[in-house]
Amino acid sequence: MSDVVLHNTLTREAEPIQPVKGKTIGMYCCGPTVYAQAHIGNFRTFLSQDVMRRALQVAGYKVLHVRNLTDVDDKTIQRSREEGKSLAEVTEHWTRVFREDCQRFNMLSPQIEPKATEHIQEQIDMMSALLEKGFAYATEDGSVYFKVSSFDEYGKLSRLKERELTTTVADNSPNDSDEYERDSMADFVMWKSRKPDDGDVYWDSPWGEGRPGWHLECSAMAMKYLGKNLDIHSGGEDLIFPHHENEIAQSECSCDTAFFRYWIHCAHLLVEGGKMSKSLNNFYTLADIEAKGFPPVTLRYALTAGAYRQTINFTLDSLHAAQSALSRLKKFSDEILEASGLKRSALLKAIEKGQRFDDPWGAFEMGWKELSDDLNIPSALGAIFTVLKRLKPAELDEAEAVVVAVAFHKLIFSLGYDLDQVVVEKPKVDIPDAIQALAQQRWDAKQSKDWDTADRLRQELQEQGWKALDSKDGFELEPI
Ligand code: AMP
Ligand code: ZN
Repeated sequence: MSDVVLHNTLTREAEPIQPVKGKTIGMYCCGPTVYAQAHIGNFRTFLSQDVMRRALQVAGYKVLHVRNLTDVDDKTIQRSREEGKSLAEVTEHWTRVFREDCQRFNMLSPQIEPKATEHIQEQIDMMSALLEKGFAYATEDGSVYFKVSSFDEYGKLSRLKERELTTTVADNSPNDSDEYERDSMADFVMWKSRKPDDGDVYWDSPWGEGRPGWHLECSAMAMKYLGKNLDIHSGGEDLIFPHHENEIAQSECSCDTAFFRYWIHCAHLLVEGGKMSKSLNNFYTLADIEAKGFPPVTLRYALTAGAYRQTINFTLDSLHAAQSALSRLKKFSDEILEASGLKRSALLKAIEKGQRFDDPWGAFEMGWKELSDDLNIPSALGAIFTVLKRLKPAELDEAEAVVVAVAFHKLIFSLGYDLDQVVVEKPKVDIPDAIQALAQQRWDAKQSKDWDTADRLRQELQEQGWKALDSKDGFELEPI
């Protein structure tokens, strides 16, 4: 199976992903800030990362997936103050909700989900090293800043020019508004001295009471858990600057080693052409979409059906298209599994575990080729549907069906669709007006308990090749 090629923001090139060590790829994803339910934009990024991980596994690698939980920052603290709850109560609740959503979306769980608040010492150690080496300074109020001018390579990820860096700096922390404290506008905060608004959220440090800045947690946790496998680091495109740029600066300067090699960023999701916002009434969570009657797999399909590096525009209409595409995939899956005698869950488990299968026919080779080429999901789906049009499972013998079933489900696994959530749509049939009228007469006769007429009309319908299926509220017609 060919390697997965991904576009690396650091080099601006498409590169085959290969681990720095052995057969395990280290993959760090910036996780959610747990102060509210993650929205569908957040999930566009998390689902793209899930497809990335699945594709790497299918390509034959083990993936050590780390995704942090940002459980202390301005937003989490503000939420805990508004609700009169402790920070832990707030963040634990939203962490639970986030994990449930991930499960409903059929996302693979990261092996490690570190919390920022449980890694304060690691963050202090990193700052101490930076201060010692002259890359950072402490201010009088007990905050610690990274000195951007001390790192020549600052800006290598975002490629922003020096002038732009000083005007684009954005970290909405109270300390950042204390500009006079900083040596330079471009310097960013790593440790924020305790402020009255922080309430009881603070830790002791060599510089006094305070709390870590957002950028620092990812540097410290990524290096703690992936120290030797610094392969992929990923997030939404809004994280390129300043978050990832700052992570690189802190990490490379504190350890004198290169940080991650592949930086993968997912473009944003717009809703009905605009940025999502509660005031515009276009802000959706998974729960909102489920309340409209769509299962999570349908939303998963809609959120990942576009190429991940392109902005996509989500509309509720796209869910209907997703529903019928999934229905075709489920129908094919059911038919090929029946012809092969394989069971879906066992087959998917074997694929997840990395069991190698041959695909001597290359039936779905094109689909894989597209998917492994920077996760080109739209083209991969196009290739899959082309095969589905011409391949009839009932025409295959069992051995042939096994080959096709395995190749097809490798792609289904990579795309992460839980087909058990999909209801196969009945094919739409054109019903002649005369048949519809006959069936209506029969229904009316039945309602008025005229059983003889109803039986006669049933017979007549049958002779013309139609069957009426009655329910409590009416009938449906089906060709025989
Ligand atoms: P947050 O919880 O705000 O830290 O964001 C979690 C992840 O979602 C990050 O990788 C963000 O870059 C990403 N993200 C935020 N908004 C969007 C959006 N509208 N579309 C895609 N990804 C997003
Ligand atoms: Zn991060």
